[in-house]
Amino acid sequence: MKRIILHSDFNSFYASVECMMHPEIAHLPVAVTGDPQARHGVVLAKNEIAKQYGIKTGETIWSAKRKCPDLHTVLPHFDEYRRISQEAFALYNSYTPRVEPFGLDECWLDMSAPGMTFSAAEEFANMLRKQIKSEMGLTVSVGVSFTKSFAKLASDLKKPDAVSVISDTDYTEKAWQLPCEALLYVGKSSRRKLNEHGIYTIGDIARMPQEIMRSILGKSGVMLHEYANGRDSSQVEYAAAAHDVKSVGNSTTTDHDLTTRDEVCAVIYSLADKVAGRLRKAELLCSTVQISVRDKNMVTTEKQIKLQSPSDISNEIAEAAMSLFDAHYSAEITPVRALGVHTTQLTSSGENHQTSLFEDVEKREKLSALDSARDKLRKKYGKSMVNRASDVNI
Ligand SMILES: [Mg+2]
Repeated sequence: MKRIILHSDFNSFYASVECMMHPEIAHLPVAVTGDPQARHGVVLAKNEIAKQYGIKTGETIWSAKRKCPDLHTVLPHFDEYRRISQEAFALYNSYTPRVEPFGLDECWLDMSAPGMTFSAAEEFANMLRKQIKSEMGLTVSVGVSFTKSFAKLASDLKKPDAVSVISDTDYTEKAWQLPCEALLYVGKSSRRKLNEHGIYTIGDIARMPQEIMRSILGKSGVMLHEYANGRDSSQVEYAAAAHDVKSVGNSTTTDHDLTTRDEVCAVIYSLADKVAGRLRKAELLCSTVQISVRDKNMVTTEKQIKLQSPSDISNEIAEAAMSLFDAHYSAEITPVRALGVHTTQLTSSGENHQTSLFEDVEKREKLSALDSARDKLRKKYGKSMVNRASDVNI
């Protein structure tokens, strides 16, 4: 079976999250930095606009401001980055448990399956890219390839918001012309040593006799030689991640403020339906439902509620989310700009659960049957064919 591996990488992650949280700065050159008062404050991340001024990660704020006097600097919010990272991994995990994180904002996904082709994988990668953009308001670059190292390389080929493929038939053409430091694990000092031996591109590495590569860089020289020739059998390490899905959620930013309960209700039902569908697909049940509400003043708050018994039923999750909204918010008083429905305390649906004495067993079974009927129809006819009555475009 052909291996198909994706590498998904958020574009300018920290800076993009900051711009998403503060749309009023999104059109400015933005850098996330250490404390500007500290003498050694440096740039931790920058957005695309700041990049055009030649600002580099790791340079001092002082030097960055010299290149771009109007640079808008913000302090990092790591809790927020971690929260969004978890949301992204939950989304990846809803498609496959074979997800290996590489830092907060990157991961590999092993999409190998009988009959899976590069073009089908490319289509999937584009769907994933669009879903992340519409649900999370952030962009990713996705690489599709047959080894982890080439998948990572492919995700760097085109940014932002793009998909690139390096296949087993075109890697000599697409990868070999790139500078050697584009390859995973070629850092500054390896690059210098390689350059000293007249090795400048990935193709140069690939064409070198392996023993020469060993004499230059030892074991890692051999490894790089294998990578450059498309021989990287390292697996997507997912065992820990599969059991580590802490939450499944969806959120959306609406293009106008929601000012009535009905509008909020429509969005919450639609989000809850997506979330519940993902839980069912991953064979998970949730015990806690959480909503996040961003109001028109860009203040985000979260509320959560424990369910009577673990659930993957669209209607139950939607009702719980709506009860939270009704208890804590009013769209008529404070219009809503973004909504999220998240589920946590997840357990495998294969496990036996103690059912609550109070629940209406018959009603639950009916709702559950309805959901699985809709799941089947969706699988057969595509997502858009079978929507809940409350699905509206807002
Ligand atoms: Mg990134």
